[in-house]
Amino acid sequence: MNTIYNFSAGPAMIPQDVLNQAKQELQNWQNLGFSIMEISHRSKEFIEVAEQAEQDLRDLLHIPDFYKVLFCQGGARGQFSAVPINLLGNLKTADYIDSGYWSKSAFIEAKKYCIPNSISIKEQINGKTSLLSMSQWDVNKKSAYIHYCPNETIDGLSIYEEPKFKDKIIIGDFSSCILSRSINIENYDLIYAGAQKNIGPAGITIIIIRENLIGYTSKISPSILDYKIISEYNSMFNTPPTFAWYLSGLVFKWLKRKGGLKKIEELNQIKSHLLYEKIDKSNFYINTIDDKNRSKMNVVFNLVDPNLNEIFLKESFESGLIALKGHSIIGGMRASIYNAMPLEGIQSLIKFMSYFENRYG
Ligand SMILES: *Cc1c(COP(=O)(O)O)cnc(C)c1O
Repeated sequence: MNTIYNFSAGPAMIPQDVLNQAKQELQNWQNLGFSIMEISHRSKEFIEVAEQAEQDLRDLLHIPDFYKVLFCQGGARGQFSAVPINLLGNLKTADYIDSGYWSKSAFIEAKKYCIPNSISIKEQINGKTSLLSMSQWDVNKKSAYIHYCPNETIDGLSIYEEPKFKDKIIIGDFSSCILSRSINIENYDLIYAGAQKNIGPAGITIIIIRENLIGYTSKISPSILDYKIISEYNSMFNTPPTFAWYLSGLVFKWLKRKGGLKKIEELNQIKSHLLYEKIDKSNFYINTIDDKNRSKMNVVFNLVDPNLNEIFLKESFESGLIALKGHSIIGGMRASIYNAMPLEGIQSLIKFMSYFENRYG
């Protein structure tokens, strides 16, 4: 049997080392005779796991002390609501940068709480999709914050520039690119990310927030979305998804063993470069995104002849290359190549693409 490589966009691949460790300790965690899923989140054993995971995340991203790290539920979509609830204050509008499906979805949810300002930054230049650079973003003086999505998981579009807006609160939906490269946390006020793309299991959402922004909800805000309450209870106001928290912690340790974000960033650069190079060199596959905005996590591409899509998906699947189908709203193909995808997976995909092209091209 071929080695299986899973290109799912999310829930996505988890490092084999991490799964092996979880398997080994599943039924007898820390010699307690039962699993980590079966102990209280308030036990000293679990609190140690939770605190260690936070510390490892802080180390990986160099998170300063004046930022809080919260572990929540409700996914990134929960944050689409939590962000306006916590950060609008008395203001009536907020800027939502529109770069694709997910940033647009955040905007639509925000309409329940304010009159958000949607700022489209997509443009077509010589048949390529490109995103305006930050200096060209038409932000509004009266907005409470600027929300944007540095990696559009479905569209395969990325923003690598770091935000530097004077006197503006900057919020980033990092769901599909957190921990894929090093960033300067201080350029952001709030970062959130669902774990199921580039960390591990679904069910936990990570929030990194500048401490002084906590505490501005109104009386009717749901407690479970209130950063102040979550923070006061050390992310245990309600029962947290303990297994997902533990497994995320194992992934953070794995990242540290791999050499941290500098190393992972180099590897992600190599992996995505190989794949885009393969696409660009052929007349059979195509990607029409401007180089500077190409995602290193979600590589979207089309077959020039869409009649071959079904057979491409069937044969790639049979070769052990799983979940290459693009999202239904975009069509075509998408290879999600998060941190857990080894270089061999990319090489295997490229080999298959060449074989397929030779056969049907
Ligand atoms: C997957 C994804 C979401 C939605 O995440 P949920 O955890 O399902 O709510 C939001 N934003 C981005 C960028 C995503 O990739």
